[in-house]
Amino acid sequence: MLSMTNEEVKKAAAFFTREIEKLASGRSLRLMEVCGTHTVSIFKSGIRQLLPENVELVSGPGCPVCVTPNEYLDTAIAYSRKSDVMITTFGDMLKVPGSSSTLAKEKAQGSDIRIVYSSLEALEFAAKNPGKKVIFLAVGFETTAPTAAAAILMADEAHLTNFYVLSAHKLVPPALRALLASGKSHVDGFLLPGHVSAIIGLQPYDFLSKEYHIPGVVAGFEPLDILQAVYMLMLQIHDQTARLENQYSRIVPKEGNPSACTILSQVYQQTDAVWRGLGKIPNSGMSIREKYQAFDALLNIPIIVEETKEASQCQCGKVLRGLLQPSACLLFGKACRPEHPIGSCMVSVEGTCAAWYKYGAGR
Ligand code: SF4
Repeated sequence: MLSMTNEEVKKAAAFFTREIEKLASGRSLRLMEVCGTHTVSIFKSGIRQLLPENVELVSGPGCPVCVTPNEYLDTAIAYSRKSDVMITTFGDMLKVPGSSSTLAKEKAQGSDIRIVYSSLEALEFAAKNPGKKVIFLAVGFETTAPTAAAAILMADEAHLTNFYVLSAHKLVPPALRALLASGKSHVDGFLLPGHVSAIIGLQPYDFLSKEYHIPGVVAGFEPLDILQAVYMLMLQIHDQTARLENQYSRIVPKEGNPSACTILSQVYQQTDAVWRGLGKIPNSGMSIREKYQAFDALLNIPIIVEETKEASQCQCGKVLRGLLQPSACLLFGKACRPEHPIGSCMVSVEGTCAAWYKYGAGR
């Protein structure tokens, strides 16, 4: 697909669009793009406008920053106020509102908060600052968790005693199961995340078709990838079958990445986790195994978190379950804008509200 000429891309896009329209005729369908990177690509490329009106794309719980609840942010903020702590974090966490502050505000008031581009960079900060307890905010799905696990293994090998991880790592398939089990989010087909699937492979999504009879297609991130994946979903829906298919086979092997999975299970174990909007989901999080608990921030650095609460009027929870489009939120574009976000979905570059605001909702 990457080696196609512009003309070939246009032709293929026209073909998929035409066929999707034919296959959708007489139906009203909701397809969920699970991944925040898909959401952004869909808005940026105008795919929503290319699809017929009776095929609606809704976003799911696939933006890691968005699904991280205030309780985690409040804990990170409380840690940042300790004089012997240095917080290391990806940049998009800075502006996410906690119950009463943000990491950006704490940084402005003197907290030692450093932006990093990987967990390994956080490790370097720990090695260079032995007088500080360096906490890495580990927010992300199966894609980023292996690098945090690798950082813990390296810290262990280097006998670092001032590196800690505050884990909010989450697993995508249990969230999809919870979404379906709730019975509230009607979805006719899933566009499944390419990056996550490159790690976990295809098998963890089997339940979609086997237990819920819902088709799923692992999709790449180019606009043409997404259109083709929608077309593949439409073919299944039209034929009244439900399978798991892989549109992104050039990157996603059926078995995923066994080495990354081995590192993950060496360091982490599955645990229940709280998701914004979805509540506590069994076995949807990752906690550090006993062997590496010396690197678990919560177990080693005492902290008291004042009362935690979610922003009362923010509808992120519904947006993340595909129950509400951002424009239906009363605060969208008014009290809540990227420069003054009320909820996480307006902060993250992968947030649905931010994408609607930046690229326009279309229809
Ligand atoms: Fe929350 Fe803002 Fe989105 Fe409304 S527009 S759901 S307040 S993030």
